[in-house]
Parts: sequence; C-alpha cells; structure tokens
Amino acid sequence: MSEAQRSNIATEGPYYSLTVAEVVRETHDACSLILEIPQELRGKFRYRAGQFLTFRVEVDGKRLVRCYSLASSPDTDAVHKVTVKRVIEGRVSNQVNDRVEAGTVLEVMKPAGVFCLEPRPDPEREIVMFSGGSGITPVISIIKTALATTRRPLRLLYANRDELSIIFRQELDGLASTHPERLRIEHSLDYREGFVDVERAVAFVGESRAADFYVCGPGPFMDVVEEALTRVGVDAERIFIERFESPDDGELGEATPADAADGVAVDVVLDGRTTQVTCGPGETILQAARRAGLEPPFACEEAYCGCCMARVKEGRVDMKMNDGGIDQGQIDQGWVLTCQGLPRSSPCTVEYPD
Ligand SMILES: Cc1cc2nc3c(=O)[nH]c(=O)nc-3n(C[C@H](O)[C@H](O)[C@H](O)COP(=O)(O)OP(=O)(O)OC[C@H]3O[C@@H](n4cnc5c(N)ncnc54)[C@H](O)[C@@H]3O)c2cc1C
Repeated sequence: MSEAQRSNIATEGPYYSLTVAEVVRETHDACSLILEIPQELRGKFRYRAGQFLTFRVEVDGKRLVRCYSLASSPDTDAVHKVTVKRVIEGRVSNQVNDRVEAGTVLEVMKPAGVFCLEPRPDPEREIVMFSGGSGITPVISIIKTALATTRRPLRLLYANRDELSIIFRQELDGLASTHPERLRIEHSLDYREGFVDVERAVAFVGESRAADFYVCGPGPFMDVVEEALTRVGVDAERIFIERFESPDDGELGEATPADAADGVAVDVVLDGRTTQVTCGPGETILQAARRAGLEPPFACEEAYCGCCMARVKEGRVDMKMNDGGIDQGQIDQGWVLTCQGLPRSSPCTVEYPD
C-alpha cells in the first residue's frame, strides 16, 4: 500500500479503516489477513458464517473494489480473517499477497452476503459442500459454525490443482479428526484425477438428495456442480451458491443523444467530479454511469454486496430490490445501491463515497 493510500482513508461508512494485525502465509499463492476490529466497530463488523467483506484498494492509481469471504467463524474464532488467493494477472489479489503487511490500513465495508448457514426445521439435515480453490473460505467458516452450533453432519468435496494448493489443509484435517462422526472431507486433485466432472459430483451427492448443498469455487467448477445437482433433481431451495467473480471492467460506452431525450438526467459525483448521465427507461444509475464512461465501484450487481452504494444528495431514487446489501439505517441516511437505483425525480444527484 502506498503512503497516499494509508493516509487517504475513509473513517465513516460505508468504508471503515481497519488495520491488518497479521498476515499468515497459507500456501505459495494465498495469504490470510487478520484484521483488527476496534471496539467501536465491533457491532458493525458482527457477521454470519459465510459472509464476506468488501475492500477498496488502490492499484496503479485506480481504486478497485473486491470482496473476500471471512474464513473465520463468528462462533469459534476470536478474529476476523479473510484469505486471498492470487489470480493470474489479478490486480488486487496480487497486490494483497505482495504488499499488504501487519500495520497496513485497509478500507473495508461491513460484512454482507447471503451464502450463510440457514437454520432448518430438521435439526440433523445433512450439509453437502463443494469447494474449489479459494472457494474454501466461506465454506470452512460454515463448517466451523455448523460443527459448533448444530448437530448436522457435513461432507465436503474440495478440489485443488495439487497438494501444495490446498488452503487450510491442517485446519480441515484437525476438524475432521475432532468430529469423525460428523465431518467427512474428500480431496480432489486435478493433476491426479483431472477436473471434477458431472459424474464425480453426482457420485459425491450419492443418496443425499434431501441435504442442503453449498457450492463455491471457480466458474467452470460451479457449472459442473450445478449441472450435477440439477441432474439428480435437488430442490433449488436447498442449493446455496457463492460466485467468486471479479467485476468486469467492461467496455465503457458513451451516452447517446437519444438516451437524453428518453431518460432521466442524474448528476453522479465520483471522486469529487460531477458528471451528468442519463438513465434510460428501467436503466439503473450504475448502468448509466458505466455506459457514460465512469468507473464507479460495484461487484455483485444483485443487491447483496453493497459495493455500489452512493448517497442521494438531491431528488428521489427507488431501489428495484435489496438483498441485504444495505441496511435500513443506511437507507434512512440516504444511501442507495446504485445497481438497483432508478431515479424518480429530476433533478437528481447521487454521490459515491470518497
Ligand atoms: C462474494 C465474493 C467473495 C469472494 N471471496 C474471495 C475469497 O475469499 N478469496 C479469494 O481469493 N477471492 C475471493 N473472491 C474473488 C475476489 O473478489 C476477486 O475477484 C479476485 O481476488 C480477483 O481479483 P483481482 O483484482 O486480483 O483480479 P482482476 O484484476 O479483477 O482480474 C481477474 C481476471 O481477469 C483478468 N483481467 C484483469 N483485467 C482485465 C481486463 N482489463 N481485461 C480482460 N481481462 C482482465 C485477469 O488476468 C484475471 O485473470 C470473492 C468474490 C466474491 C464476489
């Protein structure tokens, strides 16, 4: 992190300044960050197993927003820990692995996400988990919480390139040996068995069709597991999926004069500069801003991560939906998720946080 980044830090939400207490090298290409949560932020940073934190990091002069799941469990771990695996040519993941150290201050949003352990009426319903690579982070959090707070049995299929890529190997082995009756872990290594395919995933499901299924990993792995679950007829209500996708920087287009005639003009304040963009019918403020060539922060675009939050300074903005990305207190203070935000008045001004 640059000195500039250390000093230019938001102290009030939606981003909070958190200091890295410790960096733990997990594998050759992944590290964990243990974050210090000051007393006054403890309430804000309370989380559920499986949730993630959103970080805003400056790389080569550009502020990028990325989500990292908490690999710690609120029920068994005293600290907040996220684990970041390098992505080839990935900007934030490599910067974190190369440059973040104890004492680095990071800008972080409070926990969000719905990939969580859901309470069930049948207290012993099995949990079957599929995880690939860094997709283990929310999964291990859920495993620890499920073991500590329920009687549910768990099975995990964990896919990696090779032995050296397995994150949390020791911790997982420890959990399995402490709970031999309840937790079974099967490793799949690409170099030995090839990529997990639909047949392998179907075989792992076995007779457990009435279980809850948690799936997190790289895109192709997720596609395979989803296809397997569909093939064996698992109810959608029992499937929980977390996609680890970076927001696409996208092709940045230009607003056309026709848009201006049909749409609603919105002043977007980003990095201290105001740009007027035009939202076409049904178009969100985030979409219009990006189409106009701006680069506001965003990640999920599905109303659960909170990355794209901005404050309404003038006029009215309605959200199409909110899937937990923003809480009522923030809405009352005038914040909206711009990925869901439709302008309902003219003039209308929204401002992204500095
Ligand atoms: C809810 C959620 C939770 C997550 N949890 C974790 C976690 O716990 N651990 C973890 O490691 N990751 C996690 N991720 C993924 C993480 O947020 C990042 O997506 C990941 O670290 C890659 O970011 P990056 O900036 O390093 O890569 P990017 O710079 O975004 O690059 C990603 C890929 O795109 C390519 N690319 C980059 N720029 C361009 C361009 N301009 N044009 C074309 N291609 C390009 C790169 O070569 C690379 O292959 C999570 C994601 C989500 C949504």
